[in-house]
Amino acid sequence: MKPFLALSVLLATIVSSLVVGYPFPYYIYMVHELILFLVLLWFFNVVAHKKWTESLLFVTTFSFVFFFLTISPLTSWFAPDYSLSYTGDPLIHVDYLSTAVGPRPYSSEKEEEAASYIERILHQKGLSPEYHTNVTATIQGEKEESFLFCAHFDTVEDSPGADDNASGVAILLELDIPESPKNTLMITFFTGEEKGLTESTDMADALQTNLKGVICVDTVGVGEDLHISCLRSHRFASFWLAQLIYGLSDEGTPSIGPLFSDHVPFNRKGIPAAGITRSTNRLYPHIHSEQDRIVHEEYVMRTGSLIQKVIFHVSYAENPYAFVERALITSIVLSIALSCGVWWIVYNVRTERKE
Ligand SMILES: [Zn+2]
Repeated sequence: MKPFLALSVLLATIVSSLVVGYPFPYYIYMVHELILFLVLLWFFNVVAHKKWTESLLFVTTFSFVFFFLTISPLTSWFAPDYSLSYTGDPLIHVDYLSTAVGPRPYSSEKEEEAASYIERILHQKGLSPEYHTNVTATIQGEKEESFLFCAHFDTVEDSPGADDNASGVAILLELDIPESPKNTLMITFFTGEEKGLTESTDMADALQTNLKGVICVDTVGVGEDLHISCLRSHRFASFWLAQLIYGLSDEGTPSIGPLFSDHVPFNRKGIPAAGITRSTNRLYPHIHSEQDRIVHEEYVMRTGSLIQKVIFHVSYAENPYAFVERALITSIVLSIALSCGVWWIVYNVRTERKE
């Protein structure tokens, strides 16, 4: 009976991952929960007293179903449907930064040249950027609560950094920026990422503002799969933000840790922070090399459309996290109902057997 149950759960995981359309190796959350499920099953069945078995069945079914629902399309059904198109031309900036400027390591002349270019483009967009090591444009909203969008413009030595990370910089430069948002917006172009997140760490340490979310865009020009990446250590802090982005996106799934970039220092402070990337599977061999010269327009544009929706949503929604909360409450209710159902069936089968 027990191996049969474990096998059924495994099968259910594989089938559900196919249904959701997410390639199995990246089904990190689900695999975590599955392992937890099996450990609990083993613990209660083998170690704990028999009388716990039924409550265990309820609890594990609940967590399994709940978990499945939170990464199912349920969140997208609750998300507002923005028919926004990303109209920018980010490839111009990718081309300029990777070809005309070229490698732009931390504290180099080329790094300054890149920063000045970014500052100039922001001015042209009618923003008032500040350039102190990083370049930041702030758009004051009605509220002090703010969201930070960031991308790093520095590279490692000798790499022209088209994908890592002119792609992310270019997307932010070409966003249609909301003029009078409810929440305050900060758009920061970091340097020092390749030196060990030095500048984003300084900013996170000195932070005075009421940051409600950090969205970092890094290496999004190559790679089919989109990842909405959180840290393992502060998974819960970023869970809501990852769900928010996931709900608004047409692709990608929240996953743990594939991207180590400028969102990390904020996440470590317990601030909701997520990294958007396409290069986590390391299928692209040119990261940090002289060959990092090419990005795919389709991937850049797809990522741009997502970031455009996210910035629009967090700018104008009264409570940007409200739809995520609604989706989660629905998940909880459905999970309780399903767990009761499973418990009821098992209970009846047992009583019948006894009779
Ligand atoms: Zn990077």
